[in-house]
Amino acid sequence: MIIGSHVSFKKDTQLVGSVTEALSYGSTTFMFYTGAPQNTNRQPIDDKLTNEGKELMLKNNIDINNVIVHAPYIINMASNNDFAVTFLKEELKRVEKLGMTKLVLHPGSSVKLTKEEGIQNIIDNLNKVGESKVKILLETMAGKGTELGSSFEEIKQIIDGVNYELCVCLDTCHINDAGYDISDFDNVLKEFDQIIGLKYLKCVHVNDSKNLINTHKDRHENIGFGTLGFANLIKIIYHDKLKDIPKILETPYVTVDDNSKERMYPPYKFEIEMILNKEFDSDLINKIRAYYK
Ligand code: FE
Ligand code: FE
Ligand code: ZN
Repeated sequence: MIIGSHVSFKKDTQLVGSVTEALSYGSTTFMFYTGAPQNTNRQPIDDKLTNEGKELMLKNNIDINNVIVHAPYIINMASNNDFAVTFLKEELKRVEKLGMTKLVLHPGSSVKLTKEEGIQNIIDNLNKVGESKVKILLETMAGKGTELGSSFEEIKQIIDGVNYELCVCLDTCHINDAGYDISDFDNVLKEFDQIIGLKYLKCVHVNDSKNLINTHKDRHENIGFGTLGFANLIKIIYHDKLKDIPKILETPYVTVDDNSKERMYPPYKFEIEMILNKEFDSDLINKIRAYYK
């Protein structure tokens, strides 16, 4: 089982810190942003920390090809400015320097443009970025606001317009919110295969959702505690056709009341345990609170 979660990438520990955090959750892979997800300030990559991190991965059988980097979600490839292009080029260089091979990217939002104009901008901008050793994985989106890429058809349109190979990251919360019925996942995969092609699927974001199908909200929920439910998510995680694909949890941190001060703690160690046991624990959130208290 190739499973892990989103982990931090801190200025002073970089990859070593990320790997250490992933291992503390019992993960066999992980995903990180090269800085804060919500801004584009980035530190130079420290080769010494990268090498130490890679050694730690090797010792613990984490395959570098299963590690995912996520581009900051504020860069908008559907916009008309060159900043997104410049930033993404630099980001790809950082990922390459780290030795990782996959970068997940939110396609973008059309904002005041039409859908078609937005998609055309994404295509033009990705062509300007150009091919690199790092594979870009377009993420399937919930369709919140003017988000593009909330249908397999839109993702396919972008893939077809770009003159090098793009791949895809499927987010279970997002596709539910976008209108795909996760309870019939075989049918969703069939549709994915017919429209995009299953061989392009390189990562799955495993999240439950706080909202019903087709609500276009994008609010993640802890595994088994949302509208998708534990049984449906287990079917996806253990799906035969997805067995070689990294599964990444992006579920919300749990709030713990610490002497009237609220702190947030990661649920991943517990969610991964529950997934490996294949048995839902309705008391999980309380157990996480007790553990961190
Ligand atoms: Fe994402
Ligand atoms: Fe995601
Ligand atoms: Zn999301």
